[in-house]
Amino acid sequence: MSGFVDYIRFYLPDFTDLLQILVLAFFIYRILIRWAGTRAFQILFGLVVVLGIYVMAGLLRLEVFEAVLSQVFTYAAFALIVVFQPELRSALAQLGRSRLLTFLTKLEQGGEAVADEIAKAVERLSRKRIGAIIAVQQELALDLYVQKEGTPLRADVSADLLLTIFTPRSPLHDGAVIIRGNEIIGAGVTLPLSQFPPPDRSLGTRHKAALGLSEETDAFVIVVSEETSQISLARRGVLRRGLQPEELRARLAPDTDEVDGTASIPSKTGRDADPDVAGPNAARDGGFEGEDEVVQPV
Ligand code: ATP
Ligand code: MG
Repeated sequence: MSGFVDYIRFYLPDFTDLLQILVLAFFIYRILIRWAGTRAFQILFGLVVVLGIYVMAGLLRLEVFEAVLSQVFTYAAFALIVVFQPELRSALAQLGRSRLLTFLTKLEQGGEAVADEIAKAVERLSRKRIGAIIAVQQELALDLYVQKEGTPLRADVSADLLLTIFTPRSPLHDGAVIIRGNEIIGAGVTLPLSQFPPPDRSLGTRHKAALGLSEETDAFVIVVSEETSQISLARRGVLRRGLQPEELRARLAPDTDEVDGTASIPSKTGRDADPDVAGPNAARDGGFEGEDEVVQPV
């Protein structure tokens, strides 16, 4: 009898077991909230099902099933690398960021003044219905994009210069301007297009390029639409449309949560959908950091 009690006691969870279960449950909950409905989650679900069948085949001694599935697992690793190539690429790019470089760039930048000039330029571009795309570097360096397909520049950021660059028929008006600190470091830059289907069919390549860069890096990418004169801001794969110049200035100015991206918000997917926020990550990330509202792709 005492043997039975010991047996039961052995299997009864103690405090640390409960703590571990709680911590694990929390992480599983966070992963489900963040990834549910995404491509990664569907693939993961598929893999769990196949793994379940494999285990069952082992238990029931279904050798043919077992042999075939073990082959599948051998190649699954390679398949996963190919399927998750965009995610891996952006994760590796994140690894490449240099804290020292960030610190030095931040020291050198004239923060508020730059945000003012950009907002002023964007307001004038929007009023004149001139299309533009401006990427503002944060921690990850954007030099590679300039070197790959663009024209390197070294000029202080000014509203007049930005307006001149984007004026139609100017040699550099096609493509993006890249800003680092208080300098324009490139113009006419071709940015990578988004890896995901556009959240709104009316969005053209300019907006897809803004989303694309924001998926690969932590840059702020501002778009002025020549079709609608709308001002949009792409950040971390989420496009916020219909911004006022003042709102844009506030988001770009340093020492705000939006810029640092330190605050994180819980996702309440499915409620309070905001039609002005779009992007494949909109539902997943709950919009920009530091915001209350929850967003859905349109
Ligand atoms: P708009 O609302 O201004 O019309 P859109 O999203 O509909 O923008 P398009 O009309 O296709 O996009 O805009 C084309 C312009 O966008 C090009 O002339 C070019 O200046 C810019 N653009 C297109 N692709 C890229 C890219 N990959 N990188 C940078 N700029 C690009
Ligand atoms: Mg267009």
